[in-house]
Amino acid sequence: MTFTIAIDGPAAAGKGTLSRQIAEAYGFQHLDTGLTYRATAKALLDAGLPLDDEAVAEKMARDVDLAGLDRSVLARHHIGEAASKIAVMPAVRRALVEAQQAFAGREPGTVLDGRDIGTVVCPHAPVKLYVTASAQVRAKRRYEEILGQGAEADFEAIFEDVKKRDERDMGRADSPLKPAADAHLLDTSEMSIEAAFQAAKSIIDAALKKN
Ligand code: C5P
Repeated sequence: MTFTIAIDGPAAAGKGTLSRQIAEAYGFQHLDTGLTYRATAKALLDAGLPLDDEAVAEKMARDVDLAGLDRSVLARHHIGEAASKIAVMPAVRRALVEAQQAFAGREPGTVLDGRDIGTVVCPHAPVKLYVTASAQVRAKRRYEEILGQGAEADFEAIFEDVKKRDERDMGRADSPLKPAADAHLLDTSEMSIEAAFQAAKSIIDAALKKN
């Protein structure tokens, strides 16, 4: 059996950076599952289709090509907002979870990050991390990231968006964001990226030894 690392947490907690670092360090394949929801949302937006028609959204979800997920295009803010709206639909989730589970089985090992990896997509993953940080810290990181790209940003608006997205992701009926019972909690509010990586690495190394 392949070795899977499941990483969950709210928006802007640092799980994307951490997941990429882990995948690189262990030579594992990485899937940012948020991109699959984003690609589905973008396909609907591009086609001028509504975001609340479950059958249409499911069809778009089934057409998502995991090899063609382009972070630079899908990272845009309005696509993330649309993604969190279509992510409440069970038929969309079923379609994307099937593709994600197929990915999780790839050799030599996989890292999947998202909101429901440890709870729904890979409930038997030998390592589950729940990466979080306070809403204030997450909004500040996003704010500084946007300023760093030379664009303008409004901290209060970003802070409100982060809180709204949390509410939507944690409050939905199907696969709400929450730590799996056996997940290791990693609060990065006061941690550097390097410190978070070292903490994750010791958890993963211990699990690899047992495997
Ligand atoms: O992580 P990212 O911001 O790219 O995810 C966009 C949206 O997709 C999230 O706000 C969430 O609603 C949804 N999502 C999800 N389940 C996942 C990954 C993302 O519901 N496993």
